[in-house]
Amino acid sequence: MSADNARFATRAIHAGQRPDPATGAIMTPIYQTATYAQPSPGKFVEDFDYSRSSNPTRKALEANLASLEGGAFGLCFGSGCAAMDCVLHQLKPGDHVVLCDDVYGGTNRLFNRVYDKHGIAISLVDLTDHDAARAAFRRETKLMWLETPTNPMLKVIDIAAMAEMCRGRGVMLAVDNTFATPVLQNPLSLGADIVCHSSTKYIGGHSDVVGGALITRDAGLHERLKFVQNSVGAVPGPMDCFLLLRSTKTIHVRVQRHCENAMKVARHLEAHKRFTRVVYPGLESHPQHAVAKKQMCGFGGMITAEMDGGLEDARRFLERLRVFSIAESLGGVESLIESPAIMTHASVPPEQRARLGITDGLVRFSVGIEDVDDLIGDIEQALG
Ligand SMILES: *Cc1c(COP(=O)(O)O)cnc(C)c1O
Repeated sequence: MSADNARFATRAIHAGQRPDPATGAIMTPIYQTATYAQPSPGKFVEDFDYSRSSNPTRKALEANLASLEGGAFGLCFGSGCAAMDCVLHQLKPGDHVVLCDDVYGGTNRLFNRVYDKHGIAISLVDLTDHDAARAAFRRETKLMWLETPTNPMLKVIDIAAMAEMCRGRGVMLAVDNTFATPVLQNPLSLGADIVCHSSTKYIGGHSDVVGGALITRDAGLHERLKFVQNSVGAVPGPMDCFLLLRSTKTIHVRVQRHCENAMKVARHLEAHKRFTRVVYPGLESHPQHAVAKKQMCGFGGMITAEMDGGLEDARRFLERLRVFSIAESLGGVESLIESPAIMTHASVPPEQRARLGITDGLVRFSVGIEDVDDLIGDIEQALG
């Protein structure tokens, strides 16, 4: 049986990898080389001529991630932002993009403060509102870009419904699957054209690598993206690719535990009087719980909750936590917590923050895979 036809857990460990033909090494080596000897001028071993274009460690990771997303092709980048930039390079001046309104701050910055200068028009739209989504398309619309669940409000957007809208209009759909992970949601199978990841988060899972990836099924689209990957050159080094390959071997186990722990923490917060609102896609109270159940096979490790006091109460709570660390980023084995209003979303203008529901008392949990009783105990002592 080829690893590519196997079930998820088997593919996580084996897809794109084989024992090293030279030595039998079980782990894909870190091919720390810039260039490759050619048997004859212009003839390469496989496609290896220069490491910006191709590198064996990166190639194994690209094949592995393509397999985990149910895609045919993977491309890896030096960061999630570099992966997004590769997609935006497919556009030209005059093109229009429909962007979901509650996106990662860096995504917002790339679209609105880098590509605006290149004549790309952006509409920020709440894509949980399908009438608003339909009304946002223009004749010039070339791309819809969405995240689901979103950051930090964890809105869940119906990928199949958006794919349907895009298909009829010849618009490309790109889905940032960073929060959901390939374990819980595969946008390509729901009709998306491109899946984007910040592999810094759950794919890496240990808060020790910055990386990004794009996964596709269409060979022509892959070639256009690969051309930009090579031309711009925002590629990851072999060592980072090795670390990410090591990470994907446990992603299914890690994500399962993230989900279990987050569900228990969310229920605990929901029952606690100090939290006036708890947002987690796995709770029946979540506005798009039904969509989440339909398109995800678990609800992830991220929780957003609103505290009854304001900024000072939230700050005091965060400072008293001992197991949770106050930090940006997410998706690592260790539990993190942050205040979107002062940290990740401080650069979002206050009126936009208010419109999205990012209040001063809001806290965002990245629930790790520690013992859940210790996590709940930590929350209790910090509130006490
Ligand atoms: C972190 C993040 C990014 C950006 O990725 P980097 O690896 O930090 O460049 C993009 N999208 C989402 C949802 C993220 O969480």
